Amino acid sequence: MKVRKKRRADYPRIPCCIPGCKSSTTTIPPPCESMICRKCWRRAPKRHRDWYARMSSRLTRAKNRNSPDVDRFEKLTDWAFRKVWQSLLESPVDGEMPETLVEELRKIGLP
Ligand SMILES: [Zn+2]
Repeated sequence: MKVRKKRRADYPRIPCCIPGCKSSTTTIPPPCESMICRKCWRRAPKRHRDWYARMSSRLTRAKNRNSPDVDRFEKLTDWAFRKVWQSLLESPVDGEMPETLVEELRKIGLP
């Protein structure tokens, strides 16, 4: 078992964007405003998580070699993240709050 000292960061606290979840983090630098905590992430369908993992590793590779594909992979990674998020919204932690969900979705411009 690996025990690693948690690095303290002074970033603004970002809450987990899954309704009903109380997790938050201060380790993600701005401008990121939403995150999915590890616990919620694991509840998402594996194929969506795999898709995200694939896209984000391609994005990292593209960045490392200054590829013109960075933009494209940034969009795809973002899209994959939303896919995971949406699948989690469809199964909220406590099975309620549809109005909150609708509003959250509207905020980021999803129908
Ligand atoms: Zn969470």
